[in-house]
Amino acid sequence: MFVVCHYSEIGLKRGNRRFFEDKLIENIKKVLRPDFFEFVKRMSGRIIIKLTKEGINNKREVEESLKKVFGIEYCAFAQKTEAEIGTIKKNVLQILKNEKFKNFRITSHRSSKEFPLTSQEINEKVGAYIVDKLQKKVKLENSDLECFIEIVEKSAFLYLKKIKGLGGLPTSTGGKAIALISGGIDSPVAAFKAMKRGVRVIFLHFHAFPYTNQASIDKVKRIVEVLSEYQGKSKLYLIPFADIQREILLKTPAKLRVVLYRRMMLRIAKEVAKKEDALALVTGESLGQVASQTIENIKVINEAVKDLPILRPLIGDDKEEIIQKAKEIQTFNISILPYQDCCVRFIPEHPETKANLKEVKEAEKKLNIKKLTREAIEKTKIIKVINKICP
Ligand code: ATP
Ligand code: MG
Repeated sequence: MFVVCHYSEIGLKRGNRRFFEDKLIENIKKVLRPDFFEFVKRMSGRIIIKLTKEGINNKREVEESLKKVFGIEYCAFAQKTEAEIGTIKKNVLQILKNEKFKNFRITSHRSSKEFPLTSQEINEKVGAYIVDKLQKKVKLENSDLECFIEIVEKSAFLYLKKIKGLGGLPTSTGGKAIALISGGIDSPVAAFKAMKRGVRVIFLHFHAFPYTNQASIDKVKRIVEVLSEYQGKSKLYLIPFADIQREILLKTPAKLRVVLYRRMMLRIAKEVAKKEDALALVTGESLGQVASQTIENIKVINEAVKDLPILRPLIGDDKEEIIQKAKEIQTFNISILPYQDCCVRFIPEHPETKANLKEVKEAEKKLNIKKLTREAIEKTKIIKVINKICP
C-alpha cells in the first residue's frame, strides 16, 4: 500500500520547487516511524510513500502523523497498479466490491499525456465497467462514493478517500523566528500561523517567578509541547522579568507601564534573535483587542527594535476566530487553565492607548536598559522540547 501526498503551493514556486519538495520529503520522513515506510519519494508533482506491513497495520497513526506536516494539501492511502486500462478496471472493481453504495463516480487525473486515454475517457470506461459488473448507477454530483484514479508515469494509484492536510509550506523553508509566547490564547495561534508559512519557530516566554507560580511556567511548556508536534523539536527560552517589572513600577508613570514592558520584552527577544540567527519576532497582537494593541502603541513598541521585523499573524483576526483556531490546534484547553501572567501584575487601571514616543523615551531614561537586558539574558533558562511523534 502507498500514500499519495499532494501539495499545492509548493508546486507553484518554479525556481524553488526542488528545495520545497526535498524539505517536505525530509519532514515526512522525520514524522513517520522509520519502520512504517519503505521509501518516500517525489513522483511527477506529488510525493509517494510506500508503507511497510507495519505501516499498513498502523494506518491510523500514519494518518495522524501526516496531518501534522505543513505543506501537505491532502493525502490518500492508495493501491498501486500498472497503468493499463484493463488492469485498472479490474482493480477498481476489487476495491468497490467491498464498499456499500448505490451510486458512484470515477475521477481520474493523468500526470502525463503519454497514457493513451484522456481523463474523461478513463472515467467513462471504468464507470461503464462498474455499472455492468455491480449494477450501480453513476452520479456525478453528491454521489455516495467517489473513486480516484491517478495515472503517474507507468503506474496508476487508486483510492476512495482524500485526507485533508494542514496546507501551508514545509517547516524550515521560511527561515527562523522567535515567537513570544505568554500563557494566553493568542500567542500560540500566532506562532502556529507563522509555522504554517514554513517558519521554524523558537519560543520565548517571560515569567515573574517566584512572584508567579511554577504552574504558570509548566503551562507554557505544555503549549510548546503541543506546537512542537508541527515542527519536530523546539527550544523554549524562559526569561525572568520580575526585576524589570519592579524597575518600571518604581520609576515610571503607571499609564506607560504596558508599553514599557513590551518594549523591554522586544529588546530582550532581539538579543535572543541575534543568538539564534532568527530573522523576525512573532507576537499574538490583534489590532484594538486590548489597550496596548492600538496602532499608535504598536508604532511606539516597534521602535524599540527598529531593524527587526515583528510578524503579527493575528493582526486582523477577531477574538472568536482566534479561539476557533486555538481549539483546532489544541492549545485552547491549555491556554484557558488559570495562570499568573507576569504582565497582569501591576497593570494600571487606565493604560495609555495612544503612547507618545517622546514621553516613553523620557520615562526610559530612568531605567538602565542595557543592564536590565543583560541580566535577564544571563538568568535565562533554555529548555529543549521534543514532541511525542518525532523522537
Ligand atoms: P496572549 O493571548 O498571547 O497573551 P494578549 O491578547 O493577552 O495575547 P498582550 O497581553 O497585549 O495580548 O500581549 C501581546 C503579545 O505580547 C502576546 O501575544 C505575546 O506575543 C507577547 N507577550 C505578552 N506577555 C508575554 C510573556 N509573558 N512572555 C512572552 N511573550 C508575551
Ligand atoms: Mg495575554
